[in-house]
Amino acid sequence: MSEFELDSHAPKGPLQDRWKQHKFNSRVVSPANRKKYTVIVVGTGLAGASAAASLGEMGYKVKTFCFQDSPRRAHSIAAQGGINAAKNYQNDGDSVWRLFYDTIKGGDFRARESNVFRLAELSTSIIDQAVAQGVPFAREYSGYLANRSFGGAQVSRTFYARGQTGQQLLLGAYQAMSRQIAAGSVTHRSRCEMQDLIMDGDRAIGIVTRDLVTGELESHLADCVVLCTGGYSNAFYLSTNAKGCNASAIWRAHKKGALFANPCFTQIHPTCIPQQGELQSKLTLMSESLRNDGRVWAPKNKADADKRPEDIAEADRDYFLERIYPSFGNLVPRDIASRAVKQICDEGRGVGAEIDGRKLGVYLDFADAIRNQGLEAVREKYGNLFEMYQRITAEDPYQTPMRIYPAVHYTMGGLWVDYNLMTSIDGLFAGGEANFSDHGANRLGASALMQGLADGYFILPTTVSDYLARRKPIKTEQYQSQANAAIEEAQSRINRLMNAPDASVTADDFHRQLGQILWHACGMARERDTLLSAIDKIRALRDEFWHKVKITGEAEQLNQTLERAGRVADFFELAELMCLDALDREESCGCHAREEHLTEDGEARRNDMDYSYVAAWQYSGDISKPALFREYLHFDFVRPSIRNYQ
Ligand SMILES: Cc1cc2nc3c(=O)[nH]c(=O)nc-3n(C[C@H](O)[C@H](O)[C@H](O)COP(=O)(O)OP(=O)(O)OC[C@H]3O[C@@H](n4cnc5c(N)ncnc54)[C@H](O)[C@@H]3O)c2cc1C
Repeated sequence: MSEFELDSHAPKGPLQDRWKQHKFNSRVVSPANRKKYTVIVVGTGLAGASAAASLGEMGYKVKTFCFQDSPRRAHSIAAQGGINAAKNYQNDGDSVWRLFYDTIKGGDFRARESNVFRLAELSTSIIDQAVAQGVPFAREYSGYLANRSFGGAQVSRTFYARGQTGQQLLLGAYQAMSRQIAAGSVTHRSRCEMQDLIMDGDRAIGIVTRDLVTGELESHLADCVVLCTGGYSNAFYLSTNAKGCNASAIWRAHKKGALFANPCFTQIHPTCIPQQGELQSKLTLMSESLRNDGRVWAPKNKADADKRPEDIAEADRDYFLERIYPSFGNLVPRDIASRAVKQICDEGRGVGAEIDGRKLGVYLDFADAIRNQGLEAVREKYGNLFEMYQRITAEDPYQTPMRIYPAVHYTMGGLWVDYNLMTSIDGLFAGGEANFSDHGANRLGASALMQGLADGYFILPTTVSDYLARRKPIKTEQYQSQANAAIEEAQSRINRLMNAPDASVTADDFHRQLGQILWHACGMARERDTLLSAIDKIRALRDEFWHKVKITGEAEQLNQTLERAGRVADFFELAELMCLDALDREESCGCHAREEHLTEDGEARRNDMDYSYVAAWQYSGDISKPALFREYLHFDFVRPSIRNYQ
């Protein structure tokens, strides 16, 4: 591995003036010329739909793509809990500076100050934008928008629409994008999956797509490309993400030269419904908002683990988050809560079904909330989440505590982007969960929607315009040979998948095995020898995959086994990079808990002296030998401290 230093192009000067000054310094394209430029936006979840709507409204010619049958089915729809913004409606001491500080601290001081401040600053405009679109946020009796608390903050700044915040925000962004489709500035293609980037030298000039209904490969050329294709939690097979979420677009961009930052930074969410069986293929999140009122506990004694929770006396319950972290209690950040739950289950005090011989669950109990606030008040806040839990587990959380266990949920890693959200490839931008941007080593709850919409509604429209203003519109007829070469490359990859020499095992079977290796080595706890052994196992299984993957049907038709196999092939390569990254980072920070670097009481021990950087990896032509670029992090406005939530 070679090492290089990276420049984020973040502006200098007072933190609060940086974005304003940067916007002022950015160029704009004159309105009459905007329609001469084509911008491709891949992905129409919250980040992509908001970017496309804004760029379309500005007058650019925008082409959007998604693999689902409608933009409304993007994974963003699953976001339940809410979206943060520093409006200080509660008058409880919130401010842009406080949101900035909480986010930097929550990310364990592994994010860029300039970006995080901009995010906090834009948070208030996002709420205004969404309200103007008619997003039905919850309101107080007075008519003001309501707020609730989320982990890692001591103020109430989370705006929500019952347990459907993502869905309502997505409908807002989708309707704004639909308006542009009707106006002719945005052309949208659903069921169309990006296969590769088209490059002209070092510059991105388009994409190759596969029509998922006909199987046809097509090229699309543009003046720049924006990837808003979501996160890669599904590398672990079992995650709370929608089954279709994948890493293919960003991974193929990586293989064309885009640096991949902090790939091992994966968020494990503490409150998911525990796995019930070994063949399960999906996990379900119970929103973090539930920790506002639910109390997390486990039996004090192992002997009580098999008892019904109702039969365990109050004195025999361990409300361990309240005990260990009295100031934040049940609202500690996700990484801290997840590790505490794991610790309890490792001690043998877990409850519920056994997986691999261990009970993996603790209780999330609403009895006190129901007693103090009344059943109707609790139903009003969390009714749809309780209903979902009951449908899945056949247990009524109004009567008996929920059972929860941590699960893979979100990826802080992603394509490295500079302050303009441009990747290391000229003309290739990344927004939303697809980039690594603002969350450092741990994302605070309700901050992903905020980041995706800040990127889409406010940042990309400025920075993409600045990029285009410095160039003449491309003449597409000059780039046909590059487009044809990219189509051929995509075709030969498909041919290889379709013609494995000993085709006998489904892509799903391989994916499940890969997920288990990754979860045990690069999940909640990581350790050198386990990571080294996982890398060997991943390489061996990847070879077997290419030898044995079985795809039924033809490539020139709707073929979901082919779609899946293509995504699993990419997960195999990304998984190795995740382990290499975890191995390289000899410290514990945020989600990244290296067993060798924990304090005596199990808390993360950061090493600011040696690891205060973003690790950005470059594909070298050999998956196993990536080059490491470092972006050193500088803290001029906050002082990195040991995170203390006690
Ligand atoms: C269960 C759950 C609950 C959550 N709750 C919250 C919450 O309450 N608050 C919060 O802030 N965050 C929450 N998050 C996180 C948040 O939902 C996501 O981070 C965010 O919605 C991601 O938005 P996005 O636009 O970046 O990506 P997505 O919404 O995942 O959209 C990705 C888009 O890319 C397209 N795409 C992908 N690959 C390709 C390809 N190769 N070709 C063409 N199109 C492609 C897809 O079709 C889709 O349109 C939650 C996450 C989960 C899993």
